[in-house]
Amino acid sequence: MLIGIDLGTTNSLVACFRNGKAELIPNRLGSFLTPSVVSVDGNGTLYVGESARERAMLHPLESASVFKRSMGTEREYDLGGRRFGAEELSSLVLRSLKEDAEIYLGEPVTDAIISVPAYFNDMQRKATKRAGELAGLNVMRIINEPTAAAIAHGMAEQNDARYLVFDLGGGTFDVSILELYSPIMEVHAIAGDNFIGGEDFTTLLCNLFLEKCGIAPESLDLRTRSELRKNAESCKCAFSHTDHIIMCCTIEGRPYVMPLSIEEYEQACAPLLDRLRRPVERSLRDAGVSLEDIDQVVLVGGATRSPVVRRFVARMFKRVPSMRIDPDRAVAIGAALQCGMKSRDREIQEVVLTDVCPFTLGTEVMVDNGMFEEAGHYLPIIERNTVIPVSRTQTVYTAHDNQTRVNVKILQGESRMAQNNLLLGEITIPVPAGPKGKEAVDITYTYDVNALLEVDVFVHSTKVRRKILIQGSGSRLSDAEAAERMEKLQYLKQNPRDEEPNRLLLLRGERMYEESTADARIAIDRAVMEFERALKRQDRGEIERARKKLEKFLNDMEFGSGQ
Ligand code: ADP
Ligand code: MG
Repeated sequence: MLIGIDLGTTNSLVACFRNGKAELIPNRLGSFLTPSVVSVDGNGTLYVGESARERAMLHPLESASVFKRSMGTEREYDLGGRRFGAEELSSLVLRSLKEDAEIYLGEPVTDAIISVPAYFNDMQRKATKRAGELAGLNVMRIINEPTAAAIAHGMAEQNDARYLVFDLGGGTFDVSILELYSPIMEVHAIAGDNFIGGEDFTTLLCNLFLEKCGIAPESLDLRTRSELRKNAESCKCAFSHTDHIIMCCTIEGRPYVMPLSIEEYEQACAPLLDRLRRPVERSLRDAGVSLEDIDQVVLVGGATRSPVVRRFVARMFKRVPSMRIDPDRAVAIGAALQCGMKSRDREIQEVVLTDVCPFTLGTEVMVDNGMFEEAGHYLPIIERNTVIPVSRTQTVYTAHDNQTRVNVKILQGESRMAQNNLLLGEITIPVPAGPKGKEAVDITYTYDVNALLEVDVFVHSTKVRRKILIQGSGSRLSDAEAAERMEKLQYLKQNPRDEEPNRLLLLRGERMYEESTADARIAIDRAVMEFERALKRQDRGEIERARKKLEKFLNDMEFGSGQ
């Protein structure tokens, strides 16, 4: 069975294509959204998703989140003395989703299509693929999140149109311009910012709170900080249904409050909103279209639930954006539709995807700066947003007298200076010694649909040719390597999945106990003990009743009765 996965920075979803339609798959707690959070306790017990997010509140040092931002880097996370790379943490989330899908579908799941931000570079895509393999999944395709979202909308509306997908998730922002003229979905341009998302709005609220209450941010311990963040997060989401919030937090035993109106919040958000403008403008420019040419603006990502963001988008585009599909779910639904197409399901019309190269590919050259030849400049060969497959050639010349070889650096990125771009590989080729500028060398880049880059270097005078193939997202872990790394993750103990709701509730009780004082503490302690007693007696019916009771008790205490 093939599943589609939206592996998000904040939340992940899994879906499949069944009975002629895309179907979201609930996780072990019955929810479609699984937080992309991992936690490991002192005994090596693993927590993934909601229970990890809950646990992270009390044990931030044993928990990791937002690791998607570090995909493709060497960064390691220390979770209670054990070290994990972003790839491994992602694989634990994927494994949990895979299990949920297997239980839900009642059959083994072997293959997956995983979505990534369009702006992800080659290393980040490769890392995502490896994460899938570590989770025991054969990753059949990596698709761009906005492409998936546009497919979901395009299929729902059965309408050929030009779309602008505005995807503001937890940690990334992506803008894409796509056109559907059945059966072809063509990507015209993608742009984005890997370092802005809903989390920045939460940070903004935290900072506002500390500033208004006159508290130095450095003075907070980790636990207070995560409590403050949690409160800021719920206040931020509350703006979706109220115009005034009161944010509270107890710091060093003292309660602080900050009332805030949506107007004040909107004003404070201005610099963040402003940063969203630039990728939109860039994508329009790259696609060679104006705002009026866009038929539909599609909102994707949890952060677009915010009325402040929606108003901003409506103002910028002078129209009401489409919310036909839940912004949280569009990507997963699109990935599932891709699964249907991949398995040639008769119920679904195949959409042919034409893709673009998401980043510029080039090389390093010397450039005359008016006084002397300055080294280290970037020479783009394939510009970003060129429709692939594509092949482009640039001719370069020897830069010094008596130079005997030319070194071609293969770079990816947008920076003017070569060293700021990502080095994918190098080729060195010999040239006959002679005066500077005499020898001409052709550099040809060929980028195919599978993101494989072939570089061909050719010396005119000698007819010598060298080639190198840069593997794109097609690279696989060797079996031995995968086995070794999977084994490393195996020592993590997993709790039985049907105990997950109980576990989550106990973690929540523990956290609320620590957050409260005096009488409330005694009451929580008593309620939790009663539940623990029921668990010990191992009677299903009794556990069920006790769980409902504790859940109600904690809800009343945390959100007030009536919820
Ligand atoms: P990702 O794709 O990065 O995993 P999601 O699309 O799940 O992210 O979006 C998560 C972000 O959306 C979080 O920062 C969350 O705070 C934010 N979010 C969810 N609901 C709301 C809401 N009602 N108002 C504002 N932000 C929201
Ligand atoms: Mg997302």
